[in-house]
Amino acid sequence: MRPVILSPLFADITALAGIGPKLAALVGRVAGSRIVDILLTPPINLIDRSARPKINEAPFGALATFLVTVDKHDPPPKGRRLPYKVICSDDTGFMTLVFFHARPDYLQKTLPEGEMRLISGKIEEFKGGRQMTHPDYMVDPDKPDEMPLYEPIYPLTAGLTASVMRKAAANTMKRVPDLPEWQEASWLASNKWPDWKTALTALHNPQHETDLALGTPARQRLAYDELLANQLALLMIRKARVKSRGRTIKGDGQLLAKAKAALPFALTGAQKETLREVFEDMRSPDRMVRLVQGDVGSGKTIVAFFAMVAAIETGAQAALMAPTEILARQHMESLADLAAAAGVTMEILTGRDKGRAREEKLARLRDGEIDILIGTHAIFQETIAFKDLALAVIDEQHRFGVHQRVMLTEKGPKPDLLVMTATPIPRTLALTAYGDMEVSQITEKPPGRKPIDTRTIPLNRLEEVIAGVERAVAKGEQVYWVCPLVEVSDVLDLTAAEERFEALKEVFGDKVGLVHGRMSGPEKDAIMDRFYEGALSVLIATTVIEVGVNAPNATIMIIEHAERFGLAQLHQLRGRVGRSDKPSSCLLLYKHPLGETATARLNILRQSEDGFLIAEEDLRLRGAGDLLGAAQSGFPQFRLADIAAHSDLLAAARDDAKMIIEKDPKLTTDRGEALRTLLYLFSRDDAVKLLSAG
Ligand code: ADP
Ligand code: MG
Repeated sequence: MRPVILSPLFADITALAGIGPKLAALVGRVAGSRIVDILLTPPINLIDRSARPKINEAPFGALATFLVTVDKHDPPPKGRRLPYKVICSDDTGFMTLVFFHARPDYLQKTLPEGEMRLISGKIEEFKGGRQMTHPDYMVDPDKPDEMPLYEPIYPLTAGLTASVMRKAAANTMKRVPDLPEWQEASWLASNKWPDWKTALTALHNPQHETDLALGTPARQRLAYDELLANQLALLMIRKARVKSRGRTIKGDGQLLAKAKAALPFALTGAQKETLREVFEDMRSPDRMVRLVQGDVGSGKTIVAFFAMVAAIETGAQAALMAPTEILARQHMESLADLAAAAGVTMEILTGRDKGRAREEKLARLRDGEIDILIGTHAIFQETIAFKDLALAVIDEQHRFGVHQRVMLTEKGPKPDLLVMTATPIPRTLALTAYGDMEVSQITEKPPGRKPIDTRTIPLNRLEEVIAGVERAVAKGEQVYWVCPLVEVSDVLDLTAAEERFEALKEVFGDKVGLVHGRMSGPEKDAIMDRFYEGALSVLIATTVIEVGVNAPNATIMIIEHAERFGLAQLHQLRGRVGRSDKPSSCLLLYKHPLGETATARLNILRQSEDGFLIAEEDLRLRGAGDLLGAAQSGFPQFRLADIAAHSDLLAAARDDAKMIIEKDPKLTTDRGEALRTLLYLFSRDDAVKLLSAG
């Protein structure tokens, strides 16, 4: 249970004064729905009114605060639509305050003639004089608190004003309890870091632009807190998983030999090495929790298959979970021959299986008649029971987060776990996302692949592109055409694809097909099948084809609005072509003009096909938050830490977490107790739960 002392922070944001349901929805969009979400949202900007120049010495256009005497009101003549003016002065000169659509009674009350006022805003030159239009603040110098000298600006959205967010943050700060210190005193001292509450106070009360930087002691401390929570949770999950009783999986090698004999190619060195690591894990009595990272087309599927065959040799079963139905079916088809050759029974189960047919499959699974079950996440539902599941493979891991991995481990008897991802991520990121697993890398691609000719082309040359596609299609080539990803709306996303489909139908007739995420499974399959068979030459798609789809005959990948995609995603999409010995190409269509960063990013793709290099560069150019993109990517989203800027802190947090787990595995010491609070603070309840699970 979350410590009571944290309760005020985990209340709904509507508990804050001034935040009703309407504003809550908006705040929810920029921060989150709980008070702690506001606490962990750093300001992104700062308004600084601390400059106090004299009127005649103030630079034009700069924000400043003036102490002036209100000399005289100068209302416009009746009936004229002129501004209302108020003349003020100090010992250096005069300034005119200018108000359009003024309410005279209000101004007379706020600015009584003959009195002193603090006026804050930007001073401008007008016809040789000095004036200020609509000052931000006009307050009595005896009540300076009515004007904040520094105003943090938080992320905003339409309908949500800076002052609402600011008040919400200020009210949130009032609820922050004193918590026991979870960091080591010596570590704080050597970094000159403040305690948690002081750090938060500094975070939300910047006094200078430099206070917004990622390198301030306060921000570093908070980033370290977040990273430590992340690393500690991952190590705890990993430990719980490995400790959960595994089994020794070692067969006689007969089925494997048959499967190998039927393989139409030789394994690459990297595939062999990965298999060696996998088999070693499987033989060990500890539970395997291993990630296989390999670029698109590096041949992960076959590695998974051999691992599954090894499990079946011992009389057990294996399961392969894919993120989409298309992919599940594709695995089924591409492995069918090998499975037959090895004499293993393979079956597919997706959300589409219903009624009798489904019951029958489930019965066969329970009886152990099915050796390998391939499917979507449906295969890990409650109702599905294996006779003896020894190995679970999750393909294309980046669609599943740590939380899904936790879910898998919580279910029933615990199979060895092999996770495969085509998302090459930089080392630092791997630590934050996959810190709970061992990692193998397939760094080499099967021989004979030709480089993909990658070009960037402005969208206004669409006609030429279409003409080029026509020529290619006439030569019997196949083309993917990916339509823009519009983040705000799936509907728009779809419209773009449908519009392109209609337009290209005029050119290519029934040789063009459309596949998107809103289609039913059978509809998708029908289209994909026609593409695989060659009945379709051009396949218009949303990003549903991003993951794993394998049509070796396709040689051209066209991506519209490439500037809207993440680099890793573009790399994934491009990886759909270049899968045979034929030369292939990728056209990145962009909307002109491209910004500097966008140009640099697309250039990286033109210059490299090395997924790891692309990922490193992307991280460098954009920072981690963007790189990881949408929340469903399965990567942790850090709120205070920045993986690029705080990578040294990450390494330290990793070491720290290791030491904690070694010395105080149950978190029972004083520091351990405090660390539990830290884990709750960053919503790693899942990890804390494992402590009591035993
Ligand atoms: P990914 O790693 O992207 O999942 P796949 O496993 O789908 O890649 O493999 C891509 C293609 O490469 C498949 O057609 C597969 O049969 C082929 N392949 C895999 N390993 C080898 C190899 N060692 N030599 C030649 N082709 C291979
Ligand atoms: Mg794959």
